[in-house]
Amino acid sequence: MATISKATVLSVEEHGPEIREYNLQPEKNYYFEAGSFLLLTLEQKDDYTRWPDSRNFSIASAYSENGTIRLIIRKVGAYTEKIFQELIPGASCVLKYAFGDFLLPFFDKSGDICCIAGGTGIAPILSFAEQLHKQGQQNRLQVFYSFKNKEEQPGLDILKAIVPEPNLHQFCTREEIQGIPNRRIVWTDIANSGFDFQTAHFYICGGEEFTKYFVGNLKSVQAENVYTDEW
Ligand SMILES: Cc1cc2nc3c(=O)[nH]c(=O)nc-3n(C[C@H](O)[C@H](O)[C@H](O)COP(=O)(O)OP(=O)(O)OC[C@H]3O[C@@H](n4cnc5c(N)ncnc54)[C@H](O)[C@@H]3O)c2cc1C
Repeated sequence: MATISKATVLSVEEHGPEIREYNLQPEKNYYFEAGSFLLLTLEQKDDYTRWPDSRNFSIASAYSENGTIRLIIRKVGAYTEKIFQELIPGASCVLKYAFGDFLLPFFDKSGDICCIAGGTGIAPILSFAEQLHKQGQQNRLQVFYSFKNKEEQPGLDILKAIVPEPNLHQFCTREEIQGIPNRRIVWTDIANSGFDFQTAHFYICGGEEFTKYFVGNLKSVQAENVYTDEW
């Protein structure tokens, strides 16, 4: 069952003008699985029997004893614009969580985990990285992360601190950065990485075209375990 909790903004980090990373402290420390998402509303009332207007956001951190929650939000329309204006350090919002089935494999504790993310689609992958790190299983993780430019690299520091260097594959689509391919992720990047398509788990998080492209290719090689989170 989901819980509803008021949450205070502890800090806000900007990743360019359109992406912000929020560190929130909910009043209730409620357990959630890595990869879950929540509903965030700016409306504060006494009774939430009728849940107000809200937006969905992936939780970009693993559950922790101190209960903090990280979110990565791109400003795309009116509601996210309002979030950018109102959610400053010390301000509060209300969260309803946790939801979703974009979760780490429950029974398999050894198969490779391949995450393919574009832009803010990295959010649930950060949650996976932190969770696998807590379990000492970060070596199972391979991350293929494409971002626009140097400014818009939310979560890259977290990934660099957790994911073994050869397993972190960065792609920058709109800027030349030394040592990083200046292009999108393409299927051969995944196909030539030595995965066993029967046992590895593939997590794809990005826009519609991005998701469709990798799902189609994974299906063509009869990949068994493919999970998507598309916004
Ligand atoms: C399960 C789930 C998890 C999500 N997690 C995140 C997350 O971690 N971070 C995050 O930033 N968003 C996430 N989203 C998307 C988020 O819930 C909102 O849909 C989005 O922020 C729309 O905001 P808005 O109301 O300001 O824009 P709207 O007013 O609804 O849309 C304005 C314009 O932007 C377009 N648009 C809507 N959503 C997007 C988008 N995501 N990217 C690009 N263009 C868009 C619309 O087509 C429209 O033209 C998630 C969605 C789902 C379903």
